[in-house]
Amino acid sequence: MIANDSPTIAAPPASDAGQRTCPICAELDPIPWLTAPDRFHGRTKPYQLLRCASCSMVWLDDPPSKSEMGMHYGPDYDRTISEAAKAPEHWFDRRNEVLRLKPGGGAILDLGCATGGFLSTLQGPSWKLFGIEMSEEAAREVRSRCGAEVFVGDILDAPFPPNSFDVITCFNVFEHVYEPKEVLVRVAKWLKPGGVFYTLMPNIDSAGARIFRSYWYPLELPRHLSHFSPATLRRVAQSAGLREVSLETWRELFFESSTRFIFDDVVKKFGISRPPLSKSTDDARLPWRIMRKIYRLTLLQLFTAAASLAGAGETIAAVFTK
Ligand SMILES: [Zn+2]
Repeated sequence: MIANDSPTIAAPPASDAGQRTCPICAELDPIPWLTAPDRFHGRTKPYQLLRCASCSMVWLDDPPSKSEMGMHYGPDYDRTISEAAKAPEHWFDRRNEVLRLKPGGGAILDLGCATGGFLSTLQGPSWKLFGIEMSEEAAREVRSRCGAEVFVGDILDAPFPPNSFDVITCFNVFEHVYEPKEVLVRVAKWLKPGGVFYTLMPNIDSAGARIFRSYWYPLELPRHLSHFSPATLRRVAQSAGLREVSLETWRELFFESSTRFIFDDVVKKFGISRPPLSKSTDDARLPWRIMRKIYRLTLLQLFTAAASLAGAGETIAAVFTK
C-alpha cells in the first residue's frame, strides 16, 4: 500500500511531447491533451495524456514502469472492483452475448479474469475455461471456483498455441495493457478461424468524457494507459487482422464518481478536506446519502437525456472475428 504522494516519475514538460509517437499509427507530434492526478486515491502528482492528431488515440505519457505499477492498485482499488463485480447483472449480459455468438460452446479465454466472476458463469460441459491474470492469489481463486486453467503473468508471456480459442473476452482490461496493439495481434493469433473477440472498454470520445474532462472517472490515472474511441479501436483491430462484427456504445456516464471528484476539488479550495473516493465511507454519511438520492431522482435523468445530445455512449462494446 502506498503511504505518500511523492512523485516517482516527473511529468514531462509539454514541449517533450513532440518526441513521442502514437502507439497505434506511429504518427509523430502528439498533442498534450489533458493533465490530471489519480483522483480516486486523492493523490496530487499530475499525469499527462497525449492525443494523436492522426488517429485520435489518447494515451498516458511516460507511464509508471511495469514494476512500479502495482503501487497504483492496492486493496482500495481491488475492493471497488470486486464490489462492482458482485452484482449478478454485471456478468449476465456478457454471458448472454457470448452464448449468442457461440451457442455451441468451446474454448474461451478471459484476459484479466480477476477472481473468475465471468468465467464461472460459463461453468459446465459446453465450455473449456481459460484465463490470464496478474495476481497469483486471484488465479488460485478462479481455479478452485470454476476449474479454469489460468496463466499468471503478462498477456504477451502466455504460452497458448495459435488457433486455440473459440472466444476471447477482455472486459475493462484492454485500457490497462502496456502494448495494446501487440495484444490484439496475439488475440488474432490465438483465435480459431471464425472465433470471436468480445471486448468492453471506456470510450474517450463519449459525452461523459467531453463533459467531465479531467474529472471523468474512467480516466483512472495512471492505471488506464490507453483511451480508445470507436474509430481508434476499429483501426487497431483491423491492423491486427481482426474483422468487425459489431461495435456499439452504451450510455454509462459515471456521473456520481465524476461529480464527486469535482465536488472534492471545490470544497478543497475552501480548505475542507474529504477522504478520497478510495477511502469513501459515504454509506455512513447522511448528507451525502441524501444528496445522492436527490440526484438519482432528478439530475441523473436530466443529465442522461442531455448526454445523448452531447455525444456517444461511455462504454464501447465490440465484437471482432478472425
Ligand atoms: Zn495515431
